[in-house]
Amino acid sequence: MPVTPFLPRRRRTRIVATLGPASSDIIMIRKLFEAGADLFRLNFSHGTHEDHAARLKIIRDIEKSADHPIGIIADLQGPKLRVGKFKDGAIEITAGHMMRLDLDETAGDAGRVCLPHPEIHAVATPGMMLLVDDGKVQLMVREKARDHLLVEVIAGTRISDKKGVNVPGVILPIPALTEKDKRDLVAAMDLGADWIAQSFVQRPEDIAETKKLTGGHAKVLAKLEKPSAIERLDGIVELADAVMVARGDLGVEIPPERVPPVQKQIVRAVRMAGKPVIVATQMLESMVSSATPTRAEASDVATAIYDGADAIMLSAETASGQYPVEAVAMMDRIAASVESDPFYRPVMDAEHPDTKLGDNHDAISASAHYISKDINAAAIVTFTSRGLTALRAARQRPSVPIICLTPDISVARRMALSYGVHPVQCTDIVGFDDMVAKATSIAKDKGLAQKGQRVVITAGVPFGTAGSTNILRIAWVE
Ligand code: PGA
Ligand code: MN
Repeated sequence: MPVTPFLPRRRRTRIVATLGPASSDIIMIRKLFEAGADLFRLNFSHGTHEDHAARLKIIRDIEKSADHPIGIIADLQGPKLRVGKFKDGAIEITAGHMMRLDLDETAGDAGRVCLPHPEIHAVATPGMMLLVDDGKVQLMVREKARDHLLVEVIAGTRISDKKGVNVPGVILPIPALTEKDKRDLVAAMDLGADWIAQSFVQRPEDIAETKKLTGGHAKVLAKLEKPSAIERLDGIVELADAVMVARGDLGVEIPPERVPPVQKQIVRAVRMAGKPVIVATQMLESMVSSATPTRAEASDVATAIYDGADAIMLSAETASGQYPVEAVAMMDRIAASVESDPFYRPVMDAEHPDTKLGDNHDAISASAHYISKDINAAAIVTFTSRGLTALRAARQRPSVPIICLTPDISVARRMALSYGVHPVQCTDIVGFDDMVAKATSIAKDKGLAQKGQRVVITAGVPFGTAGSTNILRIAWVE
């Protein structure tokens, strides 16, 4: 494969692109990467393990030829509720139509369909609402019989195979990880995915369970899409390694008007904790079938960036849409445009996280940010074995790139999700002087600093000891 030199992104906000039928060959995935995708999401709700393995291999090939770490997020379906299948693939309905939901797996019709979740049947009571297909169809339970629920269509016109079901406001006694999730988790770990996204997290214990299952090896990205998760936000942020504002299901589970304030609340809490946060779903939804977004969608992407999110995500736009590359390019342009707005910087600088008293990482990373501003440095360079210093630096939302040098390729890949971080794997540093020489030469080689500019370097001495950050050095690029 020809080498495609990687040009540093002109924005600090990162872009996640979901892969799917519209983006599964190397030509398309490479185009998405070149257009600006920093990470790819493999959606385990769809496709086989072989499909994901094939896409993962393609990404690793692109990573190699571009010589730039790319993050991969394996997204577990979680206890997603769905209706069964229909004889004709779908049914047409109108308000007032009555139908039965039962546990019989034979294909359904307008009179009945399978709802294969005994937990829902168990807790259902007359008057309870079931929302199908992201709330497009509203069904109200009218009667609970021994072997089925009788429901009335309140709104909606069509239900097709396997559409999602939400039961807002009801806590269902469902495990955090299904049997499928457990199999997918093993597969994702075997593939070497950098992030494990856990869906429908309700409690901190749900994340603890996933971590336990992988012997503490998984880096868990908690998808917040249930009201109960918002109630336990602090505990979840503390245990998770990253967070996604999963607005698709969240916006069905809570009223749409609550989504904007909740988005701001989550982004702020996760940023303050020094962990990456993604804003996801319907960002450029109309680009599934249109070459340009609506003005409101462009504004929504911009809002996530003004909120200070680390990353913004595309779902159907890149997985199954007609304009995947255009969607990534559009996000890239919106991010570059917002970040160059004179009002953007003061917004980022208005809220700096409190540094923890007595913490070397915090003190040095905060100072690196201020010094980089004072001396107009070209970049901040962090040496990190586990990524902690780079996370601390990113949390300050500096205006200059953070070059994250690490010997560990999986740390480098994971760091692709963090605001402003340009990860570089660097294995052969022999001591402090060598480190300074490498920091400046890598900054220059990667096109992030020029001769005559300065960089601010943070590192730990003795070299290579995790958690030892204790040096801040200003160096000239020669
Ligand atoms: P999904 O998660 O695409 O896996 O449903 C994101 C969301 O719900 O917003
Ligand atoms: Mn979801």
